[in-house]
Amino acid sequence: MPLIVQKFGGTSVADSQKILAAARKAVRAQQEGNQVVMVVSAMGHNTDLLVDLAAQITDQPPAREMDMLLSTGEQVSVALMAMAIHSLGHEAISLTGAQIGIKTDSTHTKARIQSISTERMRQALDAGKIVIAAGFQGIDEDFNITTLGRGGSDTTAVALAAVLQADACEIYTDVDGVYTTDPRVLPEARHVKRVSYDEMLELASLGAGVMHNRSIEFAKKFSVPIHVRTSFSDVPGTMITALPEAPDQPVGGAALAKNEARVTIRGVPDKPGTSLAIFSKIAERAISVDMIVQDVGADGIADLSFTVLKDDLRATLAAAEEARAELGAEGVVHDDEVAKVSVVGLGMANQTGVAERMFRALADAGVNILMITTSEIKISVLVARSQAPAALKAVHQAFGLDKAPASATGASPATSVKTPRGDAVAIVSRLQKMEELSIDDIALDESQARLTVGVVPDRPGVAAHIFEAVAAGGIFVDMIVQSYGRDGQAKISFTVPADQYAKGQKLLEKLAAEFQCGPISGSPKVAKLSVSGIGMRSHTQVAIRTFRCLAESGINVDLISTSEVRVNVVVDGRHGQKALACLQQAFADCR
Ligand code: ADP
Ligand code: ASP
Ligand code: MG
Repeated sequence: MPLIVQKFGGTSVADSQKILAAARKAVRAQQEGNQVVMVVSAMGHNTDLLVDLAAQITDQPPAREMDMLLSTGEQVSVALMAMAIHSLGHEAISLTGAQIGIKTDSTHTKARIQSISTERMRQALDAGKIVIAAGFQGIDEDFNITTLGRGGSDTTAVALAAVLQADACEIYTDVDGVYTTDPRVLPEARHVKRVSYDEMLELASLGAGVMHNRSIEFAKKFSVPIHVRTSFSDVPGTMITALPEAPDQPVGGAALAKNEARVTIRGVPDKPGTSLAIFSKIAERAISVDMIVQDVGADGIADLSFTVLKDDLRATLAAAEEARAELGAEGVVHDDEVAKVSVVGLGMANQTGVAERMFRALADAGVNILMITTSEIKISVLVARSQAPAALKAVHQAFGLDKAPASATGASPATSVKTPRGDAVAIVSRLQKMEELSIDDIALDESQARLTVGVVPDRPGVAAHIFEAVAAGGIFVDMIVQSYGRDGQAKISFTVPADQYAKGQKLLEKLAAEFQCGPISGSPKVAKLSVSGIGMRSHTQVAIRTFRCLAESGINVDLISTSEVRVNVVVDGRHGQKALACLQQAFADCR
């Protein structure tokens, strides 16, 4: 018998009528011949209310007790949902995370799933019951209740769909699918019929709150097709599968992460091991770092900036201060009035002109770019929070995201084919790893050079100007990094094919004279190493392992960029092979 997982978010179970409506959907699915597992979130804004309550007692609640508190929200809704199904004359059983056997590690408030037992669910399903699972929660080996992080019910749903090898995983929410950007922020956002795992993974971790990013890691790892749809009608929503909406479209979506904070450690020694010292202190606290930007050092000294969620700022500053003292760095400064605007698209990987189009749109909207990082399928910029809505609007428009792409594959979810699930043996072996890190590939690219524009006036339009000129010169840009500037001045580095190095240098010299920026420096041969897989950013250990193994081999890191599916580092061209060998060894256990 086919099995279907249906997840209902907070707004979809906000009151008794909505709970009954959700119950009817589940009953209908059962009557259509499916076994049904429901995953339910806390009612309405209940989790927020519980967070507020804790905050009234203390500003530093113990994480274990936070989990004890927050998990109650889901317990209320599963019980009510089971009653609703009984009231409709059908059989159901509500189960907490512990009762299902969702085992997690002990990282309270951000626990990772280690295993799920299917036995109890299967028994109930075979007895004709609808299983109602509490989202967002699990239990560690000492029977402590854990939670998976805000929004984590999506992850419960996709994880259950994976272990039960469900035929469908439906995420019922208050929007009718995934949009090109948050429709509540930008009304002109467009509904998309399909989005690829990789794009959704990036979008989710860059601020598209519609799906919990770790749920997409699961979906990708276990090939679970997800259907995101509204709980208020039967209209088809958005399919998240391996396929993008339009493969040649450079940008498929944009996202805004409003609550970011930047931390800069100034005057760190530019030598192997520095990044390791800093980020291992942060990883110890299970904080995810984004937009790591290291200045290419001058006089043996560099500034290192990165962004974290504003909520993690306090703990991050404590870690940064420890690292500063250990390294003898100059000081730690921060800014918590910043936001991150990103564009994501699979098609970006093999197209030029995407970055300068984004920078031009921002310049024309008068938005100053504070930091830039890019990876194969995303470009992120840090801007002042007050300018973020205008920035998002400008880039959304610049990429024509409000209009359907001509090449859209367009298959409606109802007619879409299920993603092939791979062979059973492969799935079982991956299942044993659940949320563990999995590395697909470690690659070395020795074909590039680095160019750096030393001092760039920190005002709107400079990045646009530089990259338009570079593009007009026929130079292909790969990775771009703009560091956070001191005294109103920033620094931009980027990589280009080695055979375009001289041409690029000449072009930048000319530009520098016009723009009063510079000096221009660079390296005619660099080595770019990429570690790719699943869970690269949410597993805070990936960057650390990378830094550790490079530091131990005495290799200095020039540029870094991280994304959900990849960590890229650029090192001196002489060290490429050595760096590759040490990375392969460092990740040997995850392959
Ligand atoms: P639930 O409680 O059902 O889990 P969430 O509030 O977590 O619902 O997610 C749904 C919300 O996500 C929408 O109301 C919308 O404002 C927001 N959102 C952010 N980015 C996007 C996007 N790209 N597409 C659709 N919705 C988005
Ligand atoms: N109730 C939890 C939250 O609000 C989990 C979820 O809804 O996904 O974050
Ligand atoms: Mg949610």
